[in-house]
Amino acid sequence: METALIAVLTVVWIVLCVNMAGAKGHSQGNACLGGCLFGPFAVLYYLLARDVKTQRAVEQRDYQWRRAQHEHQQAQAVPPQPEPPPSEPEPPPPAAMPHAEPPPLTCPRCGALSPGGSTHCISCLTALSGTLEAHQ
Ligand SMILES: [Zn+2]
Repeated sequence: METALIAVLTVVWIVLCVNMAGAKGHSQGNACLGGCLFGPFAVLYYLLARDVKTQRAVEQRDYQWRRAQHEHQQAQAVPPQPEPPPSEPEPPPPAAMPHAEPPPLTCPRCGALSPGGSTHCISCLTALSGTLEAHQ
């Protein structure tokens, strides 16, 4: 009879410990062991134990609040980055420079091509001129 009573009480301690441990965010395995070994003392321990779960939640809320505050301060301290200027359109590639030199001249006598602007044929040294060309 006494043994049965002790067994029932032990189960009660364990259940109480595990419940409180779960509610307060402690290890339920440890609570089971504690209830088994220390009975009412373990129950007392878990009664007085800090509520880890709530504490964690509070800490997390605190952390998030501080972070939000920090970000807010940063947003105020740093002026908003000016919009990057719209990338200027690539300047059109310089139009192929029209050949500065006048077109090559054809010698009226030998037909050789002389560089534009030449006054004489590079081949036969005949004077090249507008009059000659016009003569052609
Ligand atoms: Zn010539």
